[in-house]
Amino acid sequence: TEGVAEVRVAMMADRPARRIIAIGSGKGGVGKSTLTTNLAVALARAGRKVGIVDADIYGPSQPKLLANEGERPVAENDKLVPVESRWGVRVLSMGHLVEPGRAIAWRGPMAGRALGQLIDAQWGDTELLLVDLPPGTGDVQLTMLQRFKPAGAVIVSTPQDLALIDATRAMQMFEAGGVPVVGLVENMAGYACPHCGEISDPFGAGGGEATAAEKGVPFLGRIPLALGIREASDTGTPPAAGDDAHGEAFRAIGDRLVR
Ligand code: ADP
Repeated sequence: TEGVAEVRVAMMADRPARRIIAIGSGKGGVGKSTLTTNLAVALARAGRKVGIVDADIYGPSQPKLLANEGERPVAENDKLVPVESRWGVRVLSMGHLVEPGRAIAWRGPMAGRALGQLIDAQWGDTELLLVDLPPGTGDVQLTMLQRFKPAGAVIVSTPQDLALIDATRAMQMFEAGGVPVVGLVENMAGYACPHCGEISDPFGAGGGEATAAEKGVPFLGRIPLALGIREASDTGTPPAAGDDAHGEAFRAIGDRLVR
């Protein structure tokens, strides 16, 4: 049934148009940033010109996930120039603009302005801009919806009921804002014990797919909870850049998202 996901984000071959895809979740810690990085790397591998805006202004993680924490974007004609990463993905993150480890305690309007600078930057020939949103349905998300009108939103959730309830709320926010939810991804679905190989389901199983079906949203696929994904992410080597099963899973999701 994984093949049922319809691919909704059409790319126009004849007319290069930049598409913004928002990546959202109801809760934090469900793997939204990890998915954003790996989708971007997968799509870049497939020949797309992809950029990431790390709009998780209060907890930016893209610089670490892409192993370019030391980079500093410059400004040209009053606009930021995105930073290149070694995976062929351009990125702009608050994490590149403030000192690592320093807390950002902004009120909503300032966070909204910061987001504006990251999105309204010199993205050049970037075709697809994936925006890693903060979790939930707050000011940054509303600014995103109202000012930048993404072409679509991808929602990430674990299979756990609690996370799915919040994911449903996030879906409602996008749809109310006129942004179609182009797919749901289930992350941390199933854990293979590194010792005995037995598969267990710490956050339950199948809930993401069921919720997608219930809401009439395409199910883009599932990613297991895996030690290898966590380790690779921590060292800034996105699994999607590799050829193992995890890389394959992320690439399959990328293929379903874009045509
Ligand atoms: P979010 O952006 O939703 O807050 P993150 O992408 O930062 O979530 O992920 C939260 C934590 O879980 C990170 O430590 C990340 O490395 C880890 N993680 C995410 N997805 C997986 C996975 N499929 N398997 C193992 N660890 C994961």
